[in-house]
Amino acid sequence: MRHPASTARLESKDCFAFACVGLTSSPSKLEFGWNDRDAGENDVKSMSDAKSDLPFLLSTSPPSRSQGRLAVCVLLVLVSALLVTAPFARVPLTNTEVLLPAYAAAAFVNEVITSALLLALYSVQRSQAVLVLSIGYLFSGLMVVPWALTFPGVFASLGLPDAGLQSTASIAALRRLGFPLFVLAYALLKDADPSIRNSHGSVRGIILGSIAGVITIAFGLTWLIVTRDDALPRFMSDARNVSELWRYVPATAVFLYLTGLVVLWTRERSVLDLWLMVVLCTLLIEIILLSYLSAGLRLSVGWWAGRLYGFTSASVVLLVLLSETATLYARLARAVSAERRAREARLTSMEALSASIAHEVNQPLASMVTNADAGLRWLGRQSPNLNEAQAALSRIVGDGHRAGKVIEGIRTMFEKGAQERVSVNMNRLIDEALRRCQGEVQVDHVYIQAELDEQLPLVTGSPVQLQQVISNLVANAIDAMTAVTDRERVLRVKSALQESGSILVSVEDSGTGLDPKLKERIFEPFFTTRSDGMGMGLMFCQSVIEAHGGRLWVTDNEPHGAVFRFTLPSDDDPTSTAGATVR
Ligand code: ADP
Repeated sequence: MRHPASTARLESKDCFAFACVGLTSSPSKLEFGWNDRDAGENDVKSMSDAKSDLPFLLSTSPPSRSQGRLAVCVLLVLVSALLVTAPFARVPLTNTEVLLPAYAAAAFVNEVITSALLLALYSVQRSQAVLVLSIGYLFSGLMVVPWALTFPGVFASLGLPDAGLQSTASIAALRRLGFPLFVLAYALLKDADPSIRNSHGSVRGIILGSIAGVITIAFGLTWLIVTRDDALPRFMSDARNVSELWRYVPATAVFLYLTGLVVLWTRERSVLDLWLMVVLCTLLIEIILLSYLSAGLRLSVGWWAGRLYGFTSASVVLLVLLSETATLYARLARAVSAERRAREARLTSMEALSASIAHEVNQPLASMVTNADAGLRWLGRQSPNLNEAQAALSRIVGDGHRAGKVIEGIRTMFEKGAQERVSVNMNRLIDEALRRCQGEVQVDHVYIQAELDEQLPLVTGSPVQLQQVISNLVANAIDAMTAVTDRERVLRVKSALQESGSILVSVEDSGTGLDPKLKERIFEPFFTTRSDGMGMGLMFCQSVIEAHGGRLWVTDNEPHGAVFRFTLPSDDDPTSTAGATVR
């Protein structure tokens, strides 16, 4: 079919861009407005449920199954070790005092690092519970130092005087009972902690103040204990053996550990809670070995084994916390970069929208100015040509209406459900688009072939937008053939019903074709190879087709040129969802 010349092809892209922007189904492209609104809702939500605001933290994310399994494995290994050691628990290991400083140094480093990790967590989450726990770890770590320094015989070799008999045991009792109290306070505070992010004062000030406070208390207590040995409870009967009074310490500690476990178990558990439970179980095993199986005999197999197991599992816990932190921060980093990409995509969409508005409004404005000039010239003649002036004025009116439509389209684009949705005869739209480009077709000597399926079912959608899609594809095809001089310029437009029930429209040309390297990019906004191009057309075509439940793609034409094809669900297709999408 060959069409006589008529209107200019630029019409094909008119009123096009604006109408498509609001329809995209691709989240990466054009979702401005909605995402921002969602973010707003999230902000409101996060005020009431701060934990959901920080889902990546150790203290807020729930443990995974594999973490649970690992925790159970650690406990099983410890219980097995306990059973293996139990028969030898009371065997004394003489002259092992020399190992004590090494153990104390390792325990000190372990607990201080754990405390630092928790303080870092606090600085992000500002949870008082986490702050209390980190203080507990720091206190426990600090008290290891005087415990080792006052241990009978340990530093005698360095010429340091031994502290009183009760000092070491009193410090040990403070550590044993202090730590589970901090854990208990953490467990009780963590759910009743509405002030996440609401704590007053600067985080750095609170952290430094807490560290200074703990160091002062640890020093103060150590000084009191060392200088008032006479006034301390008589926990030791001699340098090796505990007294009757000591049994209250492990008994209270066991009670506190069990209470801590119950409280943590009965509350919503985070990764941190899971590993704290492992720590409490470890301490339980340690105290069973230290105080019951070895009957409190210092430097016995049970005594050393308890310390060794306790230290090993505390190290495992520390390693797990460190690796979990690294994993969670990696997830956080990924989420941040995804969010950044989404923001950039939104910005691109905004740019695309602004450019399309400028483009669409500029067209009729420029035309109005040209027509007004022409009108003035017709009227300014010595014998004014009123007919021509009238025609110019009519064109100005037409352009004014077109600009109005553009603005109206932009407005309706943001009104939900305002897009026109009717049954559309695609053949008629194709026909109309081909008639519109007759002027160019004649000038460029393009042969048009239309192979339209007369039985083509109707589709549901916006006739304005679908017409613009076809016009744009046809305009691009003609553009691609202008440089061709050694063969016929053929534009073939086909429509057909597919077996799947959807319709297929193809626009073929014998033009320059597509550079394989650029094929991927032609649907990107602002991608163009034309000096006067905007690079918006194909992006909008794709947005419209996808929003109508279809698909648009491009392939090479044989032997020359390109073929753009799109599908649309037809009204006869029972699986069609086009209507809902367009709305
Ligand atoms: P514009 O027409 O403003 O350049 P489009 O998004 O419509 O923007 O097209 C983007 C690019 O895709 C064009 O610059 C061109 O390089 C390429 N293109 C589009 N249609 C064809 C076609 N039929 N044949 C060859 N290249 C095409």
